[in-house]
Amino acid sequence: MFSEELKYQLDAMLETYNDNHSDAIDLICEHHLGVLGARDSRISSINEEGIHLSTSDGGSTLERTLEFLEMPNTNEEVVGVLLASLSDARSKAPSNVPKTKIELEFEKTRRLKTYFTEVFERRDVSSNILELKFKGGLGELPNLGNDAFLYFIVDSSGETDDFPPGFSMETFRRSGTKGLRRHYSGAYYTIREYGEDAIDVWFVRHADAGPLSQWAENVSVGGKAAIWGPRTSFKPPQNTNRYLFIADETAQPAVLSSIENLPDQCEYACLFETHDDSSSFELGDKSDFVEWIYRKQEKAGEGTGLIKKISELKLDTENLYIFGAGETRQMSAIRRQLMSSQNLSSDQITMVGYWSRSSL
Ligand SMILES: Cc1cc2nc3c(=O)[nH]c(=O)nc-3n(C[C@H](O)[C@H](O)[C@H](O)COP(=O)(O)OP(=O)(O)OC[C@H]3O[C@@H](n4cnc5c(N)ncnc54)[C@H](O)[C@@H]3O)c2cc1C
Repeated sequence: MFSEELKYQLDAMLETYNDNHSDAIDLICEHHLGVLGARDSRISSINEEGIHLSTSDGGSTLERTLEFLEMPNTNEEVVGVLLASLSDARSKAPSNVPKTKIELEFEKTRRLKTYFTEVFERRDVSSNILELKFKGGLGELPNLGNDAFLYFIVDSSGETDDFPPGFSMETFRRSGTKGLRRHYSGAYYTIREYGEDAIDVWFVRHADAGPLSQWAENVSVGGKAAIWGPRTSFKPPQNTNRYLFIADETAQPAVLSSIENLPDQCEYACLFETHDDSSSFELGDKSDFVEWIYRKQEKAGEGTGLIKKISELKLDTENLYIFGAGETRQMSAIRRQLMSSQNLSSDQITMVGYWSRSSL
């Protein structure tokens, strides 16, 4: 039987794939499962037997299943089954079938490098955001601007003071739960600001602190980090001249950096969710364009104020692009709300799950 926590995580994964990767599910249905002209494909459910898909051949709705050979124990193992099916579908598809978003993303990641840097300065941005400046080893890190993010790998055990020779994202990824993974942990973080051979990164202090937020809290100047990237998700269509940004604490650095990159004549507005006014911060000349929404008694990821605010919006959607990021379920609900209530095409909205609350 799946644990309650795994069921909860799989629900969030299902929403993410249905919202963002229907092209990959269509490809799997057509070329792995043999449904000619598959379209409107979705994951309908995931249980101990497999991943259940619903698709259409243009006439009727069809149900198909990617069966598990062994019952998966983790979210990653379920994603592994989907990706293996996608890879099989690609090997059978004619060469002119366009790449899916996932495949294009994989191609990009193959070219990314691992950089080694260290903590240079610490500063509190607000009561729950800590800024670390990293300096050194970053001279060749490309400056992508906007929401550029990196995968940070740190020694969360505190037992080593440097990385082993030849260490890279690839060695970290391939190491199982023992060995390297006993010492090192990783998570994605955004570059708040690029400097000369330096970057600033904002770490959210959250309840139930995980290895990365704990490391950031405890690390001293000189502490080492390996970083892999950068990549971005911010992709406004051409002709966009108005922007709506939606962010919890984890995505505020991405939004602030994106705003700083906008051409002068663009309009923008931001909805920033945070705990309370001690966790909001000075915005300088951006303060007129940002509305703070406080969760107060509600837990992170469970705030109701943001979606309420969004349901009341009257948007002129011409040339508008919406970028939002934060807790996965919250962002999926906001995306569904916006898509059903506003006149938006799917390329006008990017909602990214930056973290997932647990079921507890
Ligand atoms: C592209 C991208 C960019 C990101 N940029 C940033 C960034 O700039 N700054 C930043 O702080 N985070 C950012 N995140 C989110 C960050 O990767 C996650 O919050 C990550 O889970 C932190 O790892 P951890 O080891 O602290 O906690 P984990 O071990 O992953 O989680 C431990 C527990 O904490 C909970 N949790 C995790 N994050 C939060 C949170 N923010 N609030 C409340 N509970 C939480 C989890 O549900 C879990 O129960 C980004 C994520 C992505 C995908």
